[in-house]
Amino acid sequence: MKRPLEWQIATVTAIKPETPNVKTFTLRLPQWLRHRAGQHYDIRLTAPDGYQAQRSYSIASAPERENEIELTVERLEDGEVSSYLHDVLVVGDQIEVRGPIGGYFVWEAELGGPLLLIAGGSVLLALVSFTVAVAVSGDPLGLGSQAVASTVPPTTLPPSTTAVPTTITPTTQAPVVPPGWAVHTDPATGYQVAVPPGWQVVSDGGPRTELRDQSSPTLLRIDWLLDPQADPVSVEQQASQAHAGELDGYSPARLEPAQFKGLPAALLEFTYQDGETWHALELGVRTPRHHVAMAIHTRDRDWGAGWALFEAFKASFVPPPT
Ligand SMILES: Cc1cc2nc3c(=O)[nH]c(=O)nc-3n(C[C@H](O)[C@H](O)[C@H](O)COP(=O)(O)OP(=O)(O)OC[C@H]3O[C@@H](n4cnc5c(N)ncnc54)[C@H](O)[C@@H]3O)c2cc1C
Repeated sequence: MKRPLEWQIATVTAIKPETPNVKTFTLRLPQWLRHRAGQHYDIRLTAPDGYQAQRSYSIASAPERENEIELTVERLEDGEVSSYLHDVLVVGDQIEVRGPIGGYFVWEAELGGPLLLIAGGSVLLALVSFTVAVAVSGDPLGLGSQAVASTVPPTTLPPSTTAVPTTITPTTQAPVVPPGWAVHTDPATGYQVAVPPGWQVVSDGGPRTELRDQSSPTLLRIDWLLDPQADPVSVEQQASQAHAGELDGYSPARLEPAQFKGLPAALLEFTYQDGETWHALELGVRTPRHHVAMAIHTRDRDWGAGWALFEAFKASFVPPPT
């Protein structure tokens, strides 16, 4: 059996730009070991003349995700390894890694809480793994609402967003329903999404369904359109214009193309005012007959937990089959 300190050859299966100088790399591992939130991997590069450079990167994906890990890397000007990863590495390349490493500060759901996580710079990425682990563990707001207090260098995130990086579930990932969560199937389209304990499913009888937390104002709103005439980015652009008319102080932070389980998609992130600042992240996915938009809405002060919950909702989401 493989041990964490043995090197293995990983394959790059996805590269996602998060900001102009931060990218998330998805690596498929032939000998995967479940990590604990807070651990890292080492990457080793070898030049043709035998020169080697080795750096550590925190694991940004949830421990529940099998056979793959995500590492989120900030490109440093003249940085030997980070600039190679950003400028040279492409999907399909192979790279030497070892891990998971580190046991100084790790956490698992069984250890309980409360947790207070504070980080700056790239160490924030370790907290992503923590927050996803918290959400997936089935006690999303009990622990998660206190999970992230971040200080993000302004150069690493686009202006007007305080979000931690968002990752799209890759094509190969099967839906993940966290233990204790139920599954809601939409009667009209057949999409499925997991429902945390203590959340209520409220339908308007038409295309809108809301999953509402009974102990906080956080909600997941899902809308669908039949036979949309535009691509996901254009549909989300129209949604953004509609939000601007409906929401006080609406401020879009980003609108960008994405992929979800091999389907074309778009991500829209925005804030608005409703007594205080609210934060929302909307994923619009194009399926053969529908555009399904799934959006988490939380108070901005709960954003760390809200984002992690959204990751769990996305991991569980099954788009309409037709
Ligand atoms: C446990 C752990 C987890 C980590 N997790 C992450 C993570 O999740 N994401 C992440 O992005 N990073 C993470 N890091 C940092 C990462 O390991 C690297 O240190 C980082 O990517 C920089 O490596 P580099 O090879 O690109 O830069 P380096 O080549 O090491 O250079 C670093 C900086 O020093 C400057 N420099 C280099 N040589 C000189 C010189 N002679 N004179 C003056 N300046 C010089 C470079 O220009 C650059 O700005 C982590 C580190 C540790 C220890």
